[in-house]
Amino acid sequence: MTHMPITMDNHWLPFTNNRLFHQEPQIFARAKGVRYWTPEGQEILDGSSGLFCSAAGHGRPEIAEAVHKQLMELDYTPHFQRAAPVSFELARRLAEILPEGIDRLFFGSSGSEAVDSAMKICLAYHRARGEAQRTRFVSRSWGYHGVNLGGTSLAGMVGNRRDFSGVTCDVVHMRHTWNEEQRFTRSQPEDGAHLADDLEDMCKTYGGETIAAVFVEPIAGSIGTIVPPKGYLQRLRQIADKYGILLVFDEVITGFGRTGSAFASQEFGVTPDVITMAKALTNGTIPMSAVAVKTEIQKTVIASVTADRPELMHGYTYSAHPVACAAALAALDIYRDEKLFERGKSLSDTFLDGVFGLRNLPQVYDLRGHGMMAGIQLTPGKAPGEKGSIVQRLLFKDGLHVKATGDALIFAPALVSEESDLEQMVDSLRRVLGRSDL
Ligand code: PMP
Repeated sequence: MTHMPITMDNHWLPFTNNRLFHQEPQIFARAKGVRYWTPEGQEILDGSSGLFCSAAGHGRPEIAEAVHKQLMELDYTPHFQRAAPVSFELARRLAEILPEGIDRLFFGSSGSEAVDSAMKICLAYHRARGEAQRTRFVSRSWGYHGVNLGGTSLAGMVGNRRDFSGVTCDVVHMRHTWNEEQRFTRSQPEDGAHLADDLEDMCKTYGGETIAAVFVEPIAGSIGTIVPPKGYLQRLRQIADKYGILLVFDEVITGFGRTGSAFASQEFGVTPDVITMAKALTNGTIPMSAVAVKTEIQKTVIASVTADRPELMHGYTYSAHPVACAAALAALDIYRDEKLFERGKSLSDTFLDGVFGLRNLPQVYDLRGHGMMAGIQLTPGKAPGEKGSIVQRLLFKDGLHVKATGDALIFAPALVSEESDLEQMVDSLRRVLGRSDL
């Protein structure tokens, strides 16, 4: 392993308090399976699949080999009026595991690109149908949809859009579905389906005919795993249909077995019109994302242009990058051959038993979870987010990597985890969250 000096003079880290990082850098030098190692050789258990990416564990040779092979065979091709065979195969394979009827794939390199692409596709669809006035979007308070300007506008985590107001799109936000009285609910809360009626209220207030699409994460991830109340997504579907609004599920986190099914849409039995995905698409190895749309959406947009020009003036230099496609195909092979989505489903009980067993610890305010996703809301500290930051650092020292947002810890262990890994994670949490001096 090469030891490179860590200097903060040049690299500006994203979503980081760089001043704090400067004082106490947390560096990963190596990864294998469900573990990272620091440059000093400390072993860190990965409790969040990196950032919800590495579902099949780190350092998978199958993916490395596929990437190497693709690099040597065809390292790059543009996808504007050109294509590589591997991209068609990937689209076909994804269509196989997506909900029936959602079978047209548009590729990008990040979740943020997928979200902004999805917004543009929704606009293009309505325009193609003669409804160009549908330019407004609806999303949900506490939602996270990436950081490009579309996604920043959709952001329901206000801190993510506050500093950029004035340059964003027209978005109105529904209420989130977290409810104080339903703390410590495992899986879907009983009450809260009525919160979907916020969409209907917005249709009445703004005119349903002005709204292009409603974007939600089926399980709100980045805020700390908020599982939809029973019937909530179904009701959103009904209202969206009533007003001709497209329903978009942002499955950047929930895709690829995270919830117990390939996609959360299948897990909760609601088929949206559009699904965005990224992260575990390539097991986090090569940046890649996709927007999957219903057949009719793509057909309508394509049919709208008769002259020889693109029907969708949109695309990226790295759309359907052949190396990313190869990584994704190798990841999909692993998911299929090792039955990882099923494995995630069967590991979920052990995982959630462990997490919900932490209920009475002094630092725990709320526990939530479904499938292989869980959130722990910490008791509030002196200032918002301070406790989360302290706890995350203590856990790192204790050998556990976990994503913290504000005062929530977000867990998403790899689907290849062993029960002993999950036990180690819970032991570490018990040690830190059991402290009453934080
Ligand atoms: N949508 C959702 C639901 C996400 O969780 C994320 C990333 N956490 C994104 C979009 C943005 O993805 P990226 O960081 O790859 O741009």
